[in-house]
This record gives sequence, structure tokens and C-alpha cells, in this order.
Amino acid sequence: MIPLEDALEKILNTVPVLGFENKPILSALGQVLAEDVVAQFDIPPHDNSAMDGFAVRACDTYSAAQQSPIYLKVIGEVAAGHTTSIRIKAGTTVRIMTGAPLPAGADAVVRFENTDETERKKQNKPLDIIGILEPATAQLNVRLKGEDIRAGQTVLTKGTLLLPAGIGILASLGNENATVIRRPVVSVLSTGDELCPAGKPLASGQIYDSNSYTIAANIARYGGIARIIGIGRDTLASLQEKIRLGLDSDMLITSGGVSKGDYDIVKDVLAQMGNISFWTVRMKPGKPIAFGTLKGANGREIPHLGLPGNPVSSMITFEQFARPAILKMRGISRHIRPVISAAIDQEIINDDARRIFVRVHVSRTEDGWKASVTGPQGSGILTSMTGANGLAIVPEDWPLARPGDILKVQLLDDTEEAL
Ligand code: AMP
Ligand code: MG
Repeated sequence: MIPLEDALEKILNTVPVLGFENKPILSALGQVLAEDVVAQFDIPPHDNSAMDGFAVRACDTYSAAQQSPIYLKVIGEVAAGHTTSIRIKAGTTVRIMTGAPLPAGADAVVRFENTDETERKKQNKPLDIIGILEPATAQLNVRLKGEDIRAGQTVLTKGTLLLPAGIGILASLGNENATVIRRPVVSVLSTGDELCPAGKPLASGQIYDSNSYTIAANIARYGGIARIIGIGRDTLASLQEKIRLGLDSDMLITSGGVSKGDYDIVKDVLAQMGNISFWTVRMKPGKPIAFGTLKGANGREIPHLGLPGNPVSSMITFEQFARPAILKMRGISRHIRPVISAAIDQEIINDDARRIFVRVHVSRTEDGWKASVTGPQGSGILTSMTGANGLAIVPEDWPLARPGDILKVQLLDDTEEAL
């Protein structure tokens, strides 16, 4: 048996970061930028008002007060999206809306609430004069040219995961498209004579293929593009035929056929078609897995991950190995899940020194985090996976975890990667 970390390292050393594509910024959500984004101009492009009010020379307003307003002559109005050629001179002002460029000569904005405008309107007084009720200091309510972004500044660096704010920055710089690392296309193949595809009646001795769906759903969840090939039978010809269908993708994930029973046939097929190692990994569930590369067209090598067939084993090995591989292909190197410490509520026996991943539901209590085991832990019991929001880890060197023992829990409910 090899340690989980060794298996993961071998996988990550083989799987490449994928190439680039240029696409509309909105559809690049959740993809990693392939180049730096440098601003070609300032944002804001000009000094502008942060409030609806009156653009003034601050020095004209120093002695303004509620009881003794300073009266300024209103010589124009400017709304967002418009400019004005009016220059503000001593004793004059321009009515201004939020976002409108500051007229020449002005250095501050007095908001409506600090003028007598409402009162004047009520009393039908002329509006070509306005009373300022509070003094303004220079730059009050002014957003300065370039205060967010300066021309020449690198605003987003290569390697950034594009989230809504980053997409907003690209848009604010006028970009319609972005160059990003493309998403991996991952083919999914289930193997086993007992498997029946969803939608067909079950023959006796058959079970429905669920792994294709959990695996494809997780591929999509972690930002890949899943392509379900279907079901390969436990014969040389069937497996070869189906594996070939996955050779134009970025990665092939199979499930089943790696445990002792049908190990040989899969091993032969994979050895013929590429370079495959079979490992037993010091973990539970999910001890047997296969990993290697398959030969594609033009000498291309396609990484292949062979997960165990048991539904929970395939999910947990997916979490530990396929997820980091997909993230790496997407250009994301941070694959460690958030981990918390929580008190387990049941005894877990670790009789052969493996790392046990226990399906738990974590919740916060007055005494800290609690991890409740979600049900029977057999590697075929998929229902105990549905209520789990974490995997509690019993380390290899713990023969026993007792109720109340504090375990590390990998949190599964991490929506950021869903992009
Ligand atoms: P294997 O690794 O092929 O020996 O399969 C181990 C167990 O997982 C067997 O009980 C299989 O029936 C079950 N199994 C394998 N593949 C699937 C699948 N695609 N969907 C549901 N169960 C499966
Ligand atoms: Mg099988």
C-alpha cells in the first residue's frame, strides 16, 4: 500500500495545465486568466461627483452655516454621461448628478441635503440661486480620476480565477473577451457486466450504473466538462472499444474493474493501450486505484484514472485524486479543501492502519464543531454520502477513534470550486 500523498503527487506530476482559449468574458466565469490584464486608461476616467448636489469651489463655502447660508449663482446642470464646458468661477455653482464629470474650476460637491434647494422648491423661490448650508472641503464628494485604476497598472494577474468582480473589471476596461485556460473535457466510463443504463429495465442480477452520474456530476461541479461514454463490459473487446471513445478527451475516468476479481482483464487492456500502474492506497474506502496514461492519436498521452467500482469508494477517491487533477488542468494549484476540527459522535475502528474517510455532517455547537456520522459506512452505501457535508479523517496511526475525539474534517460543501 502506498500513502495517499504519494499517489496524489504522481497524478499531479502527470496531469498538465491545459492550453488557452479566448472567449466572451461572461462565459469565462470560473476560468483562470492566461495573461495579465493591463489598464489602458484611468478609472474613473475623470474627476466626478460621488453625490447628487452642487459642484462648488470649496473656498467659496468656508463660512457657510445653517443660519447664514452662502448664496451661489446656479449657472448650469450636468448629469452622468454628459460633459459641460461651463467653468465655475467665484460665486457660481453647477447642479451635478452622481457620476457626472466635475466642471472645470470646481473642487468639491455639496449634496442637496446641505443646500436650501428643497426649501426653495417648497416656497416657489427662484432656483438660479442656491443657498449652501455647510462648508465643503476640497475633494468632498469627489471621486478622483484614476483613484480605482491607473493607466498602465496590472489590474488582474495571470493565474487569477475569474469571479464576478474580475469580470466586472474586464468589462470596465472595455474588454468583450478574455484569454483563459480552457476547461478539461473528461470522459467517464463505467465498467461491469452487471451494469444497466438508467432508463432501461433491469434484468435479473443487474444494477443500475450510478457511478457514471456521480462522477460526471462531480466533474461538472469542479469545473470540467463531463462526457459520459457509457458502460464497458468485462471483456477485452468491449473495454478496448469504449476506452478508444475517450482518447480525444483531456482525461479518462473509469470506475470498476480495479479490485481483485476483475483486475486482470482491465490490467491487460490498459497495459496494451498505454502505461498504467495499479496501486493500493493506504485509505478507506477506496484502496484499489489505477493511474497512468493512454496512447491517443499523434502520440498524445491521455491521463487515465481508474477508480474503484463501489459507489462511495469511487466518490471518495474522486474527491482525493480526480478533483485535484481537474483543478490542476484548469490552472488552479490550490486544491486543499478547507479543514476544521470537530468532535466525532461515534466510535470508528481502524484495524489495518489506513486513512479512514468517515462520512459526516458537521454542525456548530456551543462546544465547537460536532461531526455526526451520517449512516452505515460500507463502501456501497451511497445514501450516507447524500447527507454528508464533510469527510472526517481517522489517521493511519490511530487504531481507534472514540466518541468525543477531535478529528480533522475536510469540508465538502465548498461552492467556490463549483465554478
Ligand atoms: P468492481 O470495482 O468492478 O469490482 O466493483 C465493486 C462494486 O461496485 C460491485 O459491487 C459493483 O457492482 C459496484 N459497481 C461497479 N461499478 C458500478 C457503477 N457504475 N454503478 C454502481 N455500482 C457499481
Ligand atoms: Mg466490476
